Amino acid sequence: MNSIILIEDEKQIRRFVKTSLEAEGYQVFEAETGKQGVIETANRKPDLVILDLGLPDMDGIEVIGKIREWSSLPVIILSARSEESEKIDALDAGADDYLTKPFGSGELLARIRAALRRQVHSPQGQGSVFEADGLSIDLAGHRVTLNEIEIHLTPIEYRLLSILAKHAGRVLTHRFLLKEVWGPSHVDDAHYLRIYMGQLRHKLEKEPANPRYLLTETGVGYRLAAE
Ligand code: CA
Repeated sequence: MNSIILIEDEKQIRRFVKTSLEAEGYQVFEAETGKQGVIETANRKPDLVILDLGLPDMDGIEVIGKIREWSSLPVIILSARSEESEKIDALDAGADDYLTKPFGSGELLARIRAALRRQVHSPQGQGSVFEADGLSIDLAGHRVTLNEIEIHLTPIEYRLLSILAKHAGRVLTHRFLLKEVWGPSHVDDAHYLRIYMGQLRHKLEKEPANPRYLLTETGVGYRLAAE
């Protein structure tokens, strides 16, 4: 049975999440404050943490920092509309995914399943190959094929795609991608990303305007569809 720590100060949301997760067979432990959440996470060693960004005692981002000091377990954040910008900081601080309130239980469960699946399959070794619906990215061989046909990418296009593939299914922020591909001095050059993402979609997507693989997370970043 997978266990989950739910760090959330709003009782109503806690009850909703706990009920939805228990119905699916997860074991849920609740924490009302950031401090309590960090302690519970350390003591219970859960499989996943669900973390509300707006907590009474501590910033949710601080909570992620504390957990990331010793653990790489998946963290899914819950954010209110007023916390949209903090959501990006939380992803940059090491959160795996996010849900904006209000959210449905189906959506939450899908995110949890995806995060747990990634955890099982990682860390990906050197020879790892990403595959989804005809797209194959061989990270060791630096080779990309689409329906068995090799796709030629420029070095920057390949670098961008390989980073998305290493974190497949996960939202990567603009800042993170810019830093990884172009370096720390380019974290604000969002137009680079738009240009190269456009080129990649043109080469890989049947309908670049309606992508199947390279998904946009509006205002946040991009995600490579995991399946
Ligand atoms: Ca809250």
